[in-house]
Amino acid sequence: MPEEAARKRLFDNVFICMDCKAKMKAKPRKVRDNKVKCRKCGSKDLRLKSKEDRS
Ligand SMILES: [Zn+2]
Repeated sequence: MPEEAARKRLFDNVFICMDCKAKMKAKPRKVRDNKVKCRKCGSKDLRLKSKEDRS
């Protein structure tokens, strides 16, 4: 289903700031390269949202 794929891709690009828990969309590659900063606190400590979703 195209819809499923779109949702997954969207999810893949959502990161959470480890410091202030703000959500933001970014390209995983940019995050890996430390080119993405949290809009709120400026931290570069981000993790993928999708990895957290189990708990
Ligand atoms: Zn932050």
